[in-house]
Amino acid sequence: MTALHQQRVQGYVNVFVREKHWEGCAELQVTDEMRVTIAGQIAVLVSGLGKEFFDRVLSILIYPDAYVAPQTHVDEMGIVTEGPSTRLGEAWYRGPVILAWDDALAGARGELGPHNLIVHEFTHQLDMLNSRRADGVPPIESPQLAHRWLDVMQRHYHRLVEQCDQGYRSLLDCYGAQDLSEFFAVSSEAFFQVPRRMQVEMPELYQLLDDFYQPQTSAHGRGGQSPRQSRR
Ligand SMILES: [Zn+2]
Repeated sequence: MTALHQQRVQGYVNVFVREKHWEGCAELQVTDEMRVTIAGQIAVLVSGLGKEFFDRVLSILIYPDAYVAPQTHVDEMGIVTEGPSTRLGEAWYRGPVILAWDDALAGARGELGPHNLIVHEFTHQLDMLNSRRADGVPPIESPQLAHRWLDVMQRHYHRLVEQCDQGYRSLLDCYGAQDLSEFFAVSSEAFFQVPRRMQVEMPELYQLLDDFYQPQTSAHGRGGQSPRQSRR
């Protein structure tokens, strides 16, 4: 990561910590560690896009661990939920992100392989920037990239569905085989958690996500290059 990029990420962290409404649930006391950990993950996530991509996420709610929430309607309300009743997280259209802290922290520490709950839920927020319902397609400025996005994502999604049907385990969790929005979230997790492995095992998908996120971190081998895609 270049010094300039590092500076930008740190600036994003400060803004997210300061400007988001942080709320503890189930008697959880929100700590600085929680704010900085979550803000740090989402700062990297949008470091190549712009912090304004999360302007509509005003609140971040944190539970100590998996929680039971009332059932919601995904289609009409524009709410993405994880799991039928016991949940690790949720992302609401133009609303909050809800996270289970134990899982969020383990992912942020790299203890769960490709899994990262924070990246997952905030990817849904990127997904819902241009549609009420998460459909696996975030706002993409470049027509070429948008065209490639549909092609590459759909092919890899169908491949994952087939692999999961056959009981074959790949880098991507079968949670991503539910639909294209979960596929986008799960593949983004892998992209940020295990970039080198993804680059080797799924070079086309890796390159697509790299062109979209433009993370410019050393882990993604980008060094001091300047962004190729203008900010939205
Ligand atoms: Zn999800």
